[in-house]
Parts: sequence; structure tokens; C-alpha cells
Amino acid sequence: MKNQEKISHPFTPNPEQMALWPEISGNTINGLGEEKDRRPSPILWHDSDTLEHGAVQNWFWGQGSKEPELMAMRGRRQKVIDQASAPQASIQRTISPEEASQKIKQIALQSGAQLVGIVPTQAEWIFEGYEFDYPWIIVLGVVMDHEQLSTAPEVTAAYEVVDKYIQGWVAARPVADWILSQGWRAKASGGPMAGPVNIIPPALEAGFGELGKHGSIINREYGSSFRISAVFTDLPLQADTADAFGADEFCAQCQICTKACPVEAILDHKVIVRGKEKWYVDFDRCFPYFAETYGCGICIAVCPWSTPGRAPRMAEKMTRKFLADG
Ligand code: SF4
Ligand code: SF4
Repeated sequence: MKNQEKISHPFTPNPEQMALWPEISGNTINGLGEEKDRRPSPILWHDSDTLEHGAVQNWFWGQGSKEPELMAMRGRRQKVIDQASAPQASIQRTISPEEASQKIKQIALQSGAQLVGIVPTQAEWIFEGYEFDYPWIIVLGVVMDHEQLSTAPEVTAAYEVVDKYIQGWVAARPVADWILSQGWRAKASGGPMAGPVNIIPPALEAGFGELGKHGSIINREYGSSFRISAVFTDLPLQADTADAFGADEFCAQCQICTKACPVEAILDHKVIVRGKEKWYVDFDRCFPYFAETYGCGICIAVCPWSTPGRAPRMAEKMTRKFLADG
């Protein structure tokens, strides 16, 4: 069943899930309305034992046991995550940041990533409670099959998410291994767990695109139809720059995702979150539905930028509009 057919159905959260919800709002943990900058707090996709919403996260994982194919895919994903990295060479090679960055991008693209960008680490991206001593973050993007993603909220969309998380690890590992072979430190990281870095801000800084109203990145080539993995390293690299092409302005006029979200979780206006004004998805509204549908994904599927072949034309049109507006 396609998502558009599904959205007219009112949603009543499963009481079994809701009984596990903590008193504290996820939006409070996220820093909604907080005027001061601070590091993000882990809310999901960390060790459940450390989270206010840990029981809810476990309930989400447990839902998967109803779907044998999804469980099999998750098992394959865990095997990829558990693979050992190459040993770090004992002699550290000196490589220019330009040459190293070029080589890394070549390896990432050859290993299955379609997007790759590099940024120096900013302390504000590191989750509270984590130590992080890698000065560079390499961000990789793996494009999703839009047709399969568009089956959200059916479980078949979740298959696509798991598959692309696998591909994210498969692309990141050779990048980390090459850096290790040059005698520098490197660590591959990918979904579904978040790790020490809140990865969306570095991906934005690395040129992946702009933050959309649906809370995901909009890329000028692939829209929001991709998944992210990363490599952390101390190898000196050349930084990329952020990319703006009018997606933010487009969101201000568009309501496709706000109307398609079955639980009205996507705010139609920007709000202050930890000192920054941004688009925001109401966690307490989104997650009950997300958890019951193996990860939902309707909002990124319906976003017009995600339709294959459409984003480059939209980016060009928005850029022309900017130029015309002066
Ligand atoms: S559907 Fe429209 S409002 Fe929502 S993120 Fe995409 S462009 Fe922005
Ligand atoms: S993922 Fe969340 S915000 Fe997006 S459509 Fe589903 S419930 Fe709404």
C-alpha cells in the first residue's frame, strides 16, 4: 500500500508502547525552545540503558521480530558492523591534505557512496557524555531506491533503509582502512546507532545540502533519499564547504510533508532549538508512529526533491530565482 492511501487513517498509538514512554518530553531533551547553544543530548540510537526513551527504543527493535525478512537483514547489517578494521601501520606517512582528500573521495565513491564531503570537527556536534578526539569527519552518503522508499510506512521501506545502512558501512570501511594503512587513526561509523557525533550538522557543513522542513537534509542531486555514514580521523584533510541552493526558501512555501505526515509531527514554522532557529519535527508526535511502522519515512519519500531526476532541475530553478531576486 502506498503512503498516500495510508495517511487518511487516524493513528492511535499502541498502549503497550505508550506505557513505556518516560515523563520527560523528547522535545525537552532535544532542547526545543532553549535559547543557549549546547551540545545535543542522546535521545535515541544510543545504548538503551543510558536513555530516557530506552524502553521505547527497545520496543521499536522488538517490533522487527514480527518481520522475518527485516530480522534477517538486520542480522546481515550487524555482521558488517562487527567486521574488524585493518591494523594501523606503525609508520605514519606524510601526505598533503589535498592528496589525502582526493584519495579518500576516490575510495568512497568506488566503494558505493554517491556523496562524500570532509569537515573539521566542531565540539558542538558531539553528544553530551561522549569524548571525541578526531579532528576530521568524512561524511558519506548512499542513495536510496526511491520506489522502495515510497512504500513507507510499509515494512518494505524499512528493508531499503537497512540495506543502505549496510552500504554505508561497506563504503566507509575501505576509507578508514586506507587511512589506517597510512599510519593515521581512523574509525568507521554508520547507522542505525548514532555514535558520538550528531551527524546531520557535519553533513550540512560538508556540502550535502540544506536542512528541510521534515528534519532531513535536502541534497541538490538526490533530495532526501539517502543515508549517511562517516569516518573519523586525525589525518589532516582539506575541508569542503556548505551548499545552499534555495531548498530552505522552497520549504517555506511548501507543505507537502507537513500534510503527508499522518501524525502532524512536522512543524510548519522554524523554532529555536539549542540556540539555533531551524525546522523541527515534534519527537513526541513522530516517534510513536515511527516505532509502529519500522521507521516510517513517509516525509522523505513524498518530498518533491527526492523524486529521482527532479532535484537538479529544482535547484537550478531556485538558483535562477535567487539571481533574479538579486
Ligand atoms: S516536502 Fe516540501 S516542505 Fe517538506 S522538506 Fe520537502 S520541500 Fe520542504
Ligand atoms: S517519519 Fe515522523 S515526521 Fe516523517 S512522516 Fe513519519 S511520523 Fe511524520
